[in-house]
Amino acid sequence: MTTPPGTLVNSAAARMVGRTPLVELAAIGAGLPHRILAKCEFLNPAGSVKDRIGHHIIRRAEEEHLLLPGKSTLVEATAGNTGVALACAAAGRYRVIVTMSSKMGPDKEAMMRAWGAEVVRCPYDVPPESAESFINTARRIAEETPHSYYVDQFANPWNREAHELTTGPEILEQTGGEVAAFVAGAGTGGTITGVARALTAAGSPARVVLADPAGSILADRLRGGHEPGHGYAIEGIGGDFVPDLLDLGLVDDACEVSDAESVAMCLRLQTEEGLWVGGSSGTAVAAALRLAVTLPGPRSNIVVMLPDGGSRYSSTLFNPSWRTQRGFVSEDPAR
Ligand code: PMP
Repeated sequence: MTTPPGTLVNSAAARMVGRTPLVELAAIGAGLPHRILAKCEFLNPAGSVKDRIGHHIIRRAEEEHLLLPGKSTLVEATAGNTGVALACAAAGRYRVIVTMSSKMGPDKEAMMRAWGAEVVRCPYDVPPESAESFINTARRIAEETPHSYYVDQFANPWNREAHELTTGPEILEQTGGEVAAFVAGAGTGGTITGVARALTAAGSPARVVLADPAGSILADRLRGGHEPGHGYAIEGIGGDFVPDLLDLGLVDDACEVSDAESVAMCLRLQTEEGLWVGGSSGTAVAAALRLAVTLPGPRSNIVVMLPDGGSRYSSTLFNPSWRTQRGFVSEDPAR
């Protein structure tokens, strides 16, 4: 803990967050009536879209004197990426404790531990209101830990703000404002809501489309339904409750994607585009391809989020025996 109290972060990593490339998926998108442009969030310094909020929330909390370098402990409930991002942004200044549901694979846990974060695993198959859920466990740990700051990414407006101030404006700049649609999954809803707000503020006519794993309740709630959800394999998006930050009023449409389709798309992204990305990227690209076929209007840009890299799923999605066990068998015998 070497940084003097009150000093805002100025690490190399902090200065590398954002300004990620927007690259056309020309092979996967060949022959489609619209261009598919992928926002490469896995190129952030600690490897995911969550670097944007990790650094932004800590900076804002420091400005508001909610954190004391060398003394405070950050506590958060995460699918893994926010934990890695917070540990990177907090490096050398804060203790980090994260809770994570047992559904998440081991790779992100190992990464968080490598960054020095403490990881508490919680049961997956409990309702969100259970005291044992990963969110309620994080709340309890925050209450019990002296000088703690509960990051609360599912409700913290600085999460959405990070995307409204950076991700959205970057997309507008990189496309020259020509965006017919924006496609993303929602975990906390920070990305999709923040980007949607930036697009709306700029007067963009872009359709905002939620890519949701089949089994999540979010797409159903957007349509006004009350169907129960069920388990699914893709990590980091969808869920069994609507987070406070997710403004469904800004979402025009939802596209439900099965686990098998998301996994197959991840493998296609590897072999056809040379991109090794996580499951939620597969979900979003699968949704973007479906949208590209139906979206009316002259040829334009569909922007799709690639939130993290595939190395975080080496033990799961990119492990052939894991895929076989779950019936996600690739048609390509080489895989
Ligand atoms: N993809 C992955 C892999 C994630 O971990 C997350 C965040 N949980 C998201 C997408 C969704 O981001 P957001 O929380 O901003 O909705």
